[in-house]
Amino acid sequence: MSEISEPSPRTRTTLLKLRARQCRFIVSDARSEAIFCGGETQEGSSWCPWHRRLVYAKSLAGGRELSRTLA
Ligand SMILES: [Zn+2]
Repeated sequence: MSEISEPSPRTRTTLLKLRARQCRFIVSDARSEAIFCGGETQEGSSWCPWHRRLVYAKSLAGGRELSRTLA
């Protein structure tokens, strides 16, 4: 397996600009405007490899923050 690196902050985007194949992990905590990671995703995934790993780690730990990213 290759090393997964954190996506560049430059790819971050808003819901209006979010496209298919862009990571929909919310990186901001502001309620007025959600900022999404925007990193490139793999086919069939909602998240870039970096956040996919993060989300899976959280779900394995029983975290409930996951629902926030699925809205
Ligand atoms: Zn991401």
